[in-house]
Amino acid sequence: MIINNVSVIDKKDCTGCGVCHDVCSFQAIEFREDEEGFLYPSIDKNRCTNCGKCLKKCQINYDEDTSTQKLCYIAYNKNDVESEKSTSGGVFPLITKYVLEKKGYICGAIIRNNDIFHIISNDNNDLQLMQGSKYGQSNLKNIYNEIKDKLNRNILCLFSGTPCQVNGLKIFLGKEYDNLICVDIVCHGVPNNKLLKDDLSHYGTKYNVLSFREKTKNNGTLYRMQLKDTENNTIKKVYSTDSLYFNAFMNSVSLRESCYRCKFAKMSRVGDVTLGDSAYSKNYSQLDPSKIVSLVLINNAKGNKVWKQISCDINYFEGDFEKEIRENKQLNRPSLRPNLRDEFYKDYYEKDYVSVCSKYKKKITSVSKIKRYVKSFIPIKYKLFIKKKLRRK
Ligand SMILES: Cc1cc2nc3c(=O)[nH]c(=O)nc-3n(C[C@H](O)[C@H](O)[C@H](O)COP(=O)(O)OP(=O)(O)OC[C@H]3O[C@@H](n4cnc5c(N)ncnc54)[C@H](O)[C@@H]3O)c2cc1C
Ligand code: SF4
Ligand code: SF4
Ligand code: SF4
Repeated sequence: MIINNVSVIDKKDCTGCGVCHDVCSFQAIEFREDEEGFLYPSIDKNRCTNCGKCLKKCQINYDEDTSTQKLCYIAYNKNDVESEKSTSGGVFPLITKYVLEKKGYICGAIIRNNDIFHIISNDNNDLQLMQGSKYGQSNLKNIYNEIKDKLNRNILCLFSGTPCQVNGLKIFLGKEYDNLICVDIVCHGVPNNKLLKDDLSHYGTKYNVLSFREKTKNNGTLYRMQLKDTENNTIKKVYSTDSLYFNAFMNSVSLRESCYRCKFAKMSRVGDVTLGDSAYSKNYSQLDPSKIVSLVLINNAKGNKVWKQISCDINYFEGDFEKEIRENKQLNRPSLRPNLRDEFYKDYYEKDYVSVCSKYKKKITSVSKIKRYVKSFIPIKYKLFIKKKLRRK
């Protein structure tokens, strides 16, 4: 018998989008962790009728539905309080506000007890949970079905996620919905939840991640995790350079295999609106360098319609798209797969933690820690000024 389900798909191509799970009417697909901790579909042979629906809807069988019409803005929310929990310029909360005001539903990633997953909600309080980048793979559970149900009841829905999730949703739906707005993020790739939890267990007490990045008043954004000690309610701050999980993510040694061959890492995008960090922001003379801003790409007429509604709440100007693309690697190509990726997970689970840290974590001496501490008090505009002076010499 010819196997007609997603078990035939090369694991390296599977993004973990979860569409196959949601299309199977026989509940024959479950997601199971592989030896590295990534979730992959697993078929229950007793339930599977070999109908082929999951394979037909798998995104590896589709060309990406992308748009090249481009408006490129450098933008930040006028309301600092509203954008505080966002990772970059806080444009996302404005899009959600627009949708919620129209009695719509918003769908995005949250982190709870160190599990990253999507929720769908019409409650303004859930927006704050969705704000901020969670640097790991978000689990979509039955989200696609829930969104389809709402769309069919003419409810306005906003879906926000990685491009492979947005593309998965579009394939799942199989037709255009005027009442769906899709926001995709520029995406470096994702490690898995098991690794995050395991790494945190080495910190001693019980910690829950509150955020992966922190905004400062004078110093732009810091790649520093905020962890809540659940036993005594205190907050611990850990720089990316001091965390094995964060180091491995930034150096791309822990990403899902599909991320190294990601077909969405390019300038044409799957979302109506794309949000990312502005990689060129320090070079715009009209911008205070301490300002944390977003790169916003408006990809089609629907995206433009939303932008027109929210832009009165945004400070923005046209960005230099060519330069942004050049600087922001994941608008050009997928993250490069380092040779160390072959060994990382094997080492992580088989060797002792200290030796894995010394192999995969950047070495930070006490002197550099002191330098980092001192530097944190120097406003970014002075740092840039000193840099420019030194370059001229
Ligand atoms: C894993 C990951 C990798 C990224 N890599 C890059 C990069 O290489 N270059 C770049 O320019 N920008 C990258 N970003 C995007 C960037 O960090 C900001 O999320 C983006 O600029 C939006 O900022 P904001 O302030 O407008 O939105 P925010 O208010 O911060 O909203 C964040 C949005 O991202 C969604 N989101 C958060 N975490 C996840 C997740 N794990 N999976 C799916 N959706 C999620 C939320 O649903 C929310 O809609 C990445 C984000 C993630 C999650
Ligand atoms: S890419 Fe998505 S639809 Fe295809 S097998 Fe993987 S999880 Fe399933
Ligand atoms: S082939 Fe059909 S029954 Fe089998 S897992 Fe796929 S969708 Fe489910
Ligand atoms: S890098 Fe590509 S495949 Fe990986 S999570 Fe991001 S969009 Fe999906």
